[in-house]
Formats: sequence, C-alpha cells, structure tokens
Amino acid sequence: MAPIVRRAVSLKALNSFGVDARAERLVELRDPAELPAVLALLRERPPALVLGGGSNLLFSRDPPGTVLRVMLGGRRVLGERAGETLVEAAAGENWHGFVEWTLGLGLNGLENLSLIPGTVGAAPVQNVGAYGVEVCERFDSLDAVSLPDGALRRFDAGDCSFGYRDSVFRHGADAQWLITAVRFRLSRTPRPCLDYGELRDELRTRGVASPGAREVADAVCAIRRRKLPDPAEIGNAGSFFRNPVVERARAEQLARAHSGMPIYPGISPATAKLSAAWMIDRCGWKGWRDGDAGVHERHALVLVNHGNASGAQIVALATRIRESVRQRFGIELEPEPVVV
Ligand SMILES: Cc1cc2nc3c(=O)[nH]c(=O)nc-3n(C[C@H](O)[C@H](O)[C@H](O)COP(=O)(O)OP(=O)(O)OC[C@H]3O[C@@H](n4cnc5c(N)ncnc54)[C@H](O)[C@@H]3O)c2cc1C
Repeated sequence: MAPIVRRAVSLKALNSFGVDARAERLVELRDPAELPAVLALLRERPPALVLGGGSNLLFSRDPPGTVLRVMLGGRRVLGERAGETLVEAAAGENWHGFVEWTLGLGLNGLENLSLIPGTVGAAPVQNVGAYGVEVCERFDSLDAVSLPDGALRRFDAGDCSFGYRDSVFRHGADAQWLITAVRFRLSRTPRPCLDYGELRDELRTRGVASPGAREVADAVCAIRRRKLPDPAEIGNAGSFFRNPVVERARAEQLARAHSGMPIYPGISPATAKLSAAWMIDRCGWKGWRDGDAGVHERHALVLVNHGNASGAQIVALATRIRESVRQRFGIELEPEPVVV
C-alpha cells in the first residue's frame, strides 16, 4: 500500500499550541502494511519527527526532514489473565476515545486519565499521568519499530524505564522508535484511586459515596473542563514545566526560606516534588502577556498562544520564566513538551 505524502504542509492545525510551522514533507501512516514504504520515505529525507496529536510538542521552527503522522487505528481485547483483562490499541487511536471504550467494556484502571489530549502511542512516551495515576501503572507492553533500520521490538515495562513524565522514548535520537501499538492490563474489579483531594471533593459534591470507574471518569472530566484551557479555544500544551524533584532536605530548606511553598512526596522518601506553578506564580508570571505569547491567567504552569504567537516567541517567554525561577529559588525548570 502507498502511504499518503503531502508537501509544504502547515502544521498549525496539527499542534495544540496552534503555532504555524511548515513541514517540507508530511507522511501519513494509516495501515501497518504501509510501514516498509514509510520507512523508505523516511530514509530518503531524514531526520524523522513522529507526530501524534501534537498536544505535547512546540515547534520553535519548521521541522527539518520528514514529519510522520501516526494515524494507525484499531483496538481489541486480547484476553483475560489472572483476574486482569489485556487490551490493545493502535498508536494513532485518540487517547480519550480509547479510555471511554475501556469504560464501556466495564474495565477499570484508566478512568483517572480521562480527557488527556493526544494519541495512545504518545501516552507511554512521557508516561502520562493525572489525578494520582500514571499510565505505567496500567501498562503491559508495546510494539515499536526502529526508524533507522526497521527492526521490530516489543517493550515491556522494564524496557521502557518509566519515570515521572519520562521514559526511554524521550531520550536518544529524536523519533528513533515509532510506537505502533500499546497494551494495558485492566481489571473488572473496581479499584478507584482517590488520592487527590480535588477528586474526592468533586465526587462528594456529586453525592457519590462509593464511586465506580464511570463516576471517577465523569468527575475527572468535569474538573478538567472547569480548570484547564481548551486548546480549541486558546493554544496550549497543558503544563509547560515539570514539577521539579529535589532532595527532601533541600525542599525543606526552600520551604523554610519561602513562606507557603508547598512540597509533595517525591519518588522516594529521600526526595520531594516542588510545585513549578507556585514558583512561577510567585515570580509574577500568571496572566503575563507579551504580544500573543502568554501565561494563562488562572494557571501559571500553562503557557498560551493568544492567536498568532510563533513557537520561537513562546520559547523565549519560557526561557525568561526559567531564568526568573532560577534566580529566585535556585531551581532549574524543565519543559514538559518536546521543543522541536
Ligand atoms: C490541555 C492539555 C492538557 C494536558 N494534560 C495532561 C495531563 O493531565 N497529563 C499528562 O501527562 N499530559 C497532559 N498533556 C500533554 C499531552 O496531552 C500528552 O503528553 C499526550 O500523551 C501527547 O500525545 P500526542 O499524541 O498529542 O503527542 P505529540 O504531541 O504528537 O508527541 C509528543 C511526543 O511523543 C512522540 N510520539 C508521539 N507519538 C509517537 C509514537 N507513536 N511513537 C513514538 N513517539 C511518538 C513525539 O515524537 C513527541 O516527542 C496535556 C496537554 C494539553 C494540551
């Protein structure tokens, strides 16, 4: 089968920041049978940039080489094993649509991750997480193709080196692996994760005493719709910076020096997580606007495109924010989206 190839394509509608970058050549992968032809096209004009829903990317310039848009579809139940149900989805499936499909089958596990924009294939890349659950906790395995040589490989959780908004796929050469399908282990038994106070409050307000996965998903969607700016209305990529993880002693020292500074448990007892939003807010950035690049008026962590900001302008704003946080708190903020 011949993949669809487009030339000189605007990427404005293909990234949630809505910045106008141009792909010299965009290849759409819709069917696994197209893979050999797609790999040949990528070899012809490298480097390759793998694009899912474009909701965790910032184009600071036109991407060189070839943009590969992953549009592989399909989802299925693979079977039951030791009380768990194994499900698989192709990488181009919409993440929220997939979560809704699992809920419709009576499967529990992904409800806290409802309404995260993007595709199934990108979810393991930054180990998406929300409301107390990370995708690695429900992950079984994935299939990927090495772009340089076309080798196929199955990754289990250990191979992925999942961390906080991190995995092996965020490191190494850009787009070295093309993820084609991801499998998850879900449960028919409800096991709600209600660690987040905000989620518990929402359920209480709704009068739900013992929630199932559906009620949790509805509550998560309601909170997200209320809190997070919709990229269809204002360009953004969700949280622009990761919450820094530091040694606990350092976090406590910072909290003593800066009244009201929140600290959260880290990945181990010796570490703590700081709130990037709190630090950015303290530096006075919330609601800041410079031309069309800005910081959301209610979310210090969300950088926005008010209309016609370029990626370079958003990167410049992010650099100023990082610099001010570094000067005031001595903390280095790391961007969450991939800056191309
Ligand atoms: C409003 C909003 C809210 C958000 N909320 C959250 C949240 O709560 N939690 C959270 O974790 N994230 C959140 N995000 C970030 C984003 O939704 C996730 O990171 C999502 O998984 C990105 O999916 P995507 O398909 O859009 O990836 P893209 O932006 O297209 O790509 C992101 C990265 O993954 C790579 N990639 C994409 N697909 C593949 C593939 N098939 N194979 C190999 N590499 C691939 C790309 O090359 C790129 O490096 C939010 C974003 C927005 C805009």
